[in-house]
Amino acid sequence: MAYEADFAVTLRPDEVADIQNIARYWLWSGWRRRHWPADVIKPGLKLYGFDKQKRRLVALLQITKGGTFKYRSGAEFKRRVYKLTSWSPSEHDPHWKNILGSGKAERTGIALRWRLIRTVDEPLKGKFPQLGWLRLTELQPDRPSLDIGNLRPGRYKIEQSRIIRTTALVRYLKRLHNDRCQVCGDRLALLDGRGYSEGHHLRPLGLPHDGPDTPGNVLILCPNCHALFDFGAVKIRLTRLRKCSGHDVSRKYVRYHNDRIARPGAKANP
Ligand SMILES: [Zn+2]
Repeated sequence: MAYEADFAVTLRPDEVADIQNIARYWLWSGWRRRHWPADVIKPGLKLYGFDKQKRRLVALLQITKGGTFKYRSGAEFKRRVYKLTSWSPSEHDPHWKNILGSGKAERTGIALRWRLIRTVDEPLKGKFPQLGWLRLTELQPDRPSLDIGNLRPGRYKIEQSRIIRTTALVRYLKRLHNDRCQVCGDRLALLDGRGYSEGHHLRPLGLPHDGPDTPGNVLILCPNCHALFDFGAVKIRLTRLRKCSGHDVSRKYVRYHNDRIARPGAKANP
């Protein structure tokens, strides 16, 4: 869809239900900081109304009155809104408490009224940032944006799972190494002082490799190094592994890893 307006704003359910009479409604808001819709709100601006429930653009609207202003008190806010929209906000509105906040710091407000150009009916997958305003120009299909979330999750999502087996032998070796990685020397410390490490079988357990659960076939690694090993991104130089008396890594399984698991281009641990 080629958009006729650069912005969309979420509508309240009562506005969606009464979209033909949108000219009777007004929108006001106030924030401690100056948020970006404040830069664009002025009479003549076109924008789409968005139905949150149906996740569709339901109307092309045009601002007839309104703008942005600074205020420091509720009275000032009311005065400015009245000047812009010929309407006075009610202190009984549940939104009112957000207008004031605490302190006398300068705040930014917006107020507007609008008219219906025409209703539309277009799905919109973008996620609205805070405040319910969205720049439609950010809906470039191939560009994920932090503001709007990921428009096509299926295209970007990479899911992989690694099975981490913790055998009694691995638990024993982790204790022996005090959870220190045999490759990079890091020890991941948890809040309570305990360490965290993972056991890696150089020749993987289970088919098709059918490696043994013996000390010579196990490395104790930090999670980062473990992922590199699982994905074959590193080779091993046995002499550079951190050693611990009571745990000898077998040259045979190091060779198995380097020849069968490591991928072409994988570099050896420094
Ligand atoms: Zn490591």
